Amino acid sequence: MDFEKLVEVYEELEKTSSGNALREILSGFFKKVPAEDIAVISYLTLGQISSDYDSSVLGLAEKSVLKGIAKAGGISEKEVKLIMDKKGDVGLTAEQVLHKKPRTLVPVGKLTVNELFEKLNKIAVTSGSGSQDQKTNILVSLFQKSSPIGAKYIARMVLGTLRMGVGDMTVIDSLTIAFTGDKKGKEEVEKAYNICPDVGIIAETLAKHGLKGINKIDIHVGRPIKMMLAQRLKSLDELPKKIGEKWAVEGKYDGERLQAHKDKNGKITLFSRKLDDITSQFPDLVRYLEKQIKAKEFVVEAEVIAIDDQGKHQPFQVLMQRKRKHDIEEYVKKIPVQAKMFDVLYYNGKSYLHESYEKRYEILHKIVSKSKNVTLSDRIITDDLSKLNDFFKQMLHEKYEGVMIKDLNGEYQAGTRGWNWIKWKKEYVKDLSDTFDLVVIGAFHGRGKRAGVYGALLCASYNPKNDQFETVCKLGTGLTDEALAELPNRLEKYKVNKKPSRVVISKEMIPDVWFEPKVVVEVLAAEITKSPYHTCANGLALRFPRFIRYREKKPEQATTSKEIEEMA
Ligand code: ATP
Repeated sequence: MDFEKLVEVYEELEKTSSGNALREILSGFFKKVPAEDIAVISYLTLGQISSDYDSSVLGLAEKSVLKGIAKAGGISEKEVKLIMDKKGDVGLTAEQVLHKKPRTLVPVGKLTVNELFEKLNKIAVTSGSGSQDQKTNILVSLFQKSSPIGAKYIARMVLGTLRMGVGDMTVIDSLTIAFTGDKKGKEEVEKAYNICPDVGIIAETLAKHGLKGINKIDIHVGRPIKMMLAQRLKSLDELPKKIGEKWAVEGKYDGERLQAHKDKNGKITLFSRKLDDITSQFPDLVRYLEKQIKAKEFVVEAEVIAIDDQGKHQPFQVLMQRKRKHDIEEYVKKIPVQAKMFDVLYYNGKSYLHESYEKRYEILHKIVSKSKNVTLSDRIITDDLSKLNDFFKQMLHEKYEGVMIKDLNGEYQAGTRGWNWIKWKKEYVKDLSDTFDLVVIGAFHGRGKRAGVYGALLCASYNPKNDQFETVCKLGTGLTDEALAELPNRLEKYKVNKKPSRVVISKEMIPDVWFEPKVVVEVLAAEITKSPYHTCANGLALRFPRFIRYREKKPEQATTSKEIEEMA
């Protein structure tokens, strides 16, 4: 397909801010896309050059892109820099420079979507000495083959700032409508996407085989599965109604969730809660898992915590020091870790997603040989609330977060916050309010002591039903002076000049600065109240919100409006 056709759609999307209109434009367009191009077009529309969990990055600095624009436009880098200073956007700079450029006498041919995709991937894999120049040259060849408006989008793609305002669930919904005729298959497609979070595979399967193909999608070792999440309860008395009379109760550890895959060739890959490949951060764990899990192939889950030399659990902040790119082996020695294994999703050629928890734990028990560094979660099975409470106290005594109560008959609900897992944390018991993971979508300029920095952040919950973000509080408390000072810098790359299309807001809350929904913060609040100004669940707000920490989560993994409504 000609890239310029995609550019026409992007121009339309850029002007649109309603979620339904976005879906309409996209589904109408997807219908016309040949099946062999649909995967590539789905990735590009999300600003990706492969699946979300693939770690390929384009790695082009703004300076190299400006150099590429100068070269393709036949003007000096200095002149390009002047235009950039005026426009403040690399895409608009590319468009203006290439607009002025006289057309060549010999036509260079049309840029197809496939050629663009291949070259973007080539830019991503080019490394070593002289690679920046090679990358820039590939970019120049792309600029030369595209229209000035096309160049605007190419420049944004290589910088990773393509902001169509389209979330992956909007693309998934639009694909469903395009290839099944309506929204009825939405649930089935979402289920498949939870097991296979690769929009390209979903798109191609839908286009070629429809819902029949979608329903056949299963676990594939090496491809992460969206992780199952836990519900909250107000009182343990509700347990029987929710998950029966007898429960498995495990420790809830405050570490890092990990999904470990071992393929037929023995290669082990570790994925984080965000589905990022974090294998290189934990070479020690890879070695332990190789030795201590007796299986040719597996997909298992664990919470990783830091321990001291005696094997005693260390706080979350200690583990965070292992999040690094350099001096990894030094930190392996300095901060040993322990994986508390709690689930198995695949074992020696068979998917266990739809088997009961009881059966899965049995397998886990069979294949894990325990040591200080790899062990099973602490666990009891009981039908007695007082025993559950004793175990809970014991877990708190060990300085764990609380317990996870699991339905013995429950299957693994990928990507779902279902009732098969229930979390019970110390905060609930002390009657403190729970924390919320919210998405930063805007900021207000500070006044008085905070002049020159942001005075408050505008935060939103996620509404998965329509793939939108709904405002729920202004957050100004809990940020230290240092944290406030570094906010503009931290948020700069997400700044956009108009309301992101997935944000739902009342006119009273319009912030001074808008951000693309990307950064997730954990917020503690005293209570949930009704508010005519906030859009969360049609008018809920958090009172006295307080910043706790940044969370390594995707915006779509934030607390949902429905959860806040249920807590209210
Ligand atoms: P929280 O902020 O409470 O950790 P969350 O949104 O990160 O919430 P939840 O679904 O609320 O995730 O809680 C599940 C998380 O708890 C898992 O993602 C996992 O990281 C962690 N966890 C700790 N111990 C266990 C366990 N035994 N079984 C399952 N998950 C566990």
